[in-house]
Amino acid sequence: MQTAYLRHPDNRTVLVDIAAYQTQVRGVPREAWPVIYCPSCGRETFASGLFTPQQKYTPRFCHVQEPDDAECCPLSSRSRRYGQLNTAECDHETAQQVRTHFLAFDQLKRAYAVCWHLRGGQGKLSQQTFIKWIEVADSIGIWGYRYLPAWGIPLLLMLMDNHPTPNGKAMYFYKFKKDRSHFNEKWWQRHVRLEAHWLSNGDAIKPRPDTQSSFLLTIPFTEETVSDILQGQSFDWISPDRQTTLFAFSQKSLK
Ligand SMILES: [Zn+2]
Repeated sequence: MQTAYLRHPDNRTVLVDIAAYQTQVRGVPREAWPVIYCPSCGRETFASGLFTPQQKYTPRFCHVQEPDDAECCPLSSRSRRYGQLNTAECDHETAQQVRTHFLAFDQLKRAYAVCWHLRGGQGKLSQQTFIKWIEVADSIGIWGYRYLPAWGIPLLLMLMDNHPTPNGKAMYFYKFKKDRSHFNEKWWQRHVRLEAHWLSNGDAIKPRPDTQSSFLLTIPFTEETVSDILQGQSFDWISPDRQTTLFAFSQKSLK
């Protein structure tokens, strides 16, 4: 993970990235480094490789103790949910640009609508939870994938959390799947999809012949998935006046 929550002595918490943390602890004895937490699960975290002489090692934050279940936290270093996304090329120069564009309220509102719908609609995705997904996305660094179309970002956000089934009795998560890995501008169009897996044992959730699943077992990673949701219903209810938390987040992030 590339970001962590840092708690100040006055109990205020702020998100820091690895570079900011490095600046903060330079010259400070290790035992006096501020305590930091995972932005997704809140587990205590440490900074690995901050001052290593190995140039090839990218410093990062890690859980002090990884959860037993690798998928319990989407920021666990042992999570397998990102699949070939881990091999996608990143362009750090455009990442900031893509992120800034995404955070403008008009874009953010559309992404919220898509994720709100995919999570099950009314009452299933609070503004706070959605904002947390964006913080997890920052920690993974999803903004700089080369050739990633803007419509793909809300779909990737579905990987940033575990989801309760509609009856609340079980949890599942999505895994990023694609058939071929050769990377070029068509990379995102080659049968890419998100597949639902049970959190309890990691198994892919199989459709049952007799009943329709109450949540999506596969989300096709296509522009149609997104446009069908946006055109299928009115999302006029998402506005700066009503979604004040989301609007404030957008304003603050773009400062
Ligand atoms: Zn975590």
